[in-house]
Amino acid sequence: MVFEGLAEKLQNTFKKLKGKGKLTEKDVTEAMREVKMALLEADVNFKVVKDFVNRVKERAVGGDVLESLTPGQQVVKIVNDELTALMGGTQSKMTFASKPPTIVMLVGLQGAGKTTTTGKLAGLLKKQGKRPLLIAGDIYRPAAIKQLQVVGSQVDVPVFTMGDKLSPIDIAKAGIEHGVKHGNDIILIDTAGRLHIDEQLMDELIGIKKTVKPHEILLVVDSMTGQDAVNVAEHFNEKLGIDGVILTKLDGDTRGGAALSVRSVTNKPIKFVGMGEKLTDLEPFYPDRMASRILG
Ligand code: GDP
Repeated sequence: MVFEGLAEKLQNTFKKLKGKGKLTEKDVTEAMREVKMALLEADVNFKVVKDFVNRVKERAVGGDVLESLTPGQQVVKIVNDELTALMGGTQSKMTFASKPPTIVMLVGLQGAGKTTTTGKLAGLLKKQGKRPLLIAGDIYRPAAIKQLQVVGSQVDVPVFTMGDKLSPIDIAKAGIEHGVKHGNDIILIDTAGRLHIDEQLMDELIGIKKTVKPHEILLVVDSMTGQDAVNVAEHFNEKLGIDGVILTKLDGDTRGGAALSVRSVTNKPIKFVGMGEKLTDLEPFYPDRMASRILG
């Protein structure tokens, strides 16, 4: 389960705090030391941890928290608020074009779960009453086109492909024309990934962006890679500009460091999370619910 280790440690710390009744500044400092350790062990970005703990400490020892009747509970509430804020505060929804179709580019490194997630997102949108079209723009990875066709048929969403001989820009352009003609109101473009970030990949993605002018660029990253996922997000955001992150494999991530760091480091929200291998395992990301999961 996601945040398993962190949840256990924080809940222990706060149980002790709540059990004390009256609190001193020293009690809060000690608790915050434990919170800091727990966050670092969960692979949360170091600077994010430092700022977070300072903010909580400031709010907890300032004001009248320590004089209140239930100081322990007040501190937990502050931590809950700050964890929620760290993950973006409120839910960040997808942007839809005022005049359809909405064009969405899905980008990310190989293995992150991009193709699967493209299918999952199409399925989710379809359930919401949209008419999605998928465009197979990953012409480099063997079997990527076939894989998209398979997930497309599983969620009953059409897939536009022109094979792997044309440029992704030409495929994207033709796919959008096709979608417009067929009344698709949202078009998801699956783009190529690489094992590592390289300039050629970025140049290609920038080329597609310039041509199709997407309403939304979503970066798919693997939660289990922790701070690597955060670095990837930072890089994609600097070079390409992204509108949001989809964090996959959260179901297998017991630490949760990427979920807690990516928003703060990139200033871009997590919009969806992948919670399993099934095509229905994609959920909108709710920062407040995630914070409650951690604090129990
Ligand atoms: P791509 O190379 O980025 O297109 O990655 P794929 O879509 O092929 O996914 C790589 C692997 O990750 C596949 O085995 C997927 O089933 C798996 N996967 C994707 N998303 C999730 C998720 O949210 N949870 C789990 N457990 N597995 C996932």
